Amino acid sequence: MNTEKICEKTSRCPIYSGVLQSNEMLTRTYKSLFCENGAEGRAKCRRYQVAEIMGFCPPNILPNSTRSAQDIAAGLKHLPQPAAQPGMSCSRSY
Ligand code: SF4
Repeated sequence: MNTEKICEKTSRCPIYSGVLQSNEMLTRTYKSLFCENGAEGRAKCRRYQVAEIMGFCPPNILPNSTRSAQDIAAGLKHLPQPAAQPGMSCSRSY
């Protein structure tokens, strides 16, 4: 598999890790559309966008959230910020 096509946040991302166990088809769809679809796929992923803004993304944000990344980030700014951890920017709670 072409690693440039794979999102660099996969190791810390619950979506990629299969947290949606009850819906394997949905996980496969997310991986195909977002996680394993190169820069274009990542750019469309709401989790990726939020992590780029905030340095983390809570586990309850789906890749295809209808809320904008800016709106999600605005709601997170009142929360305590996690310590910076290189390569661990997809989430802070898992
Ligand atoms: S941040 Fe988005 S594109 Fe990256 S692994 Fe998670 S769900 Fe997939």
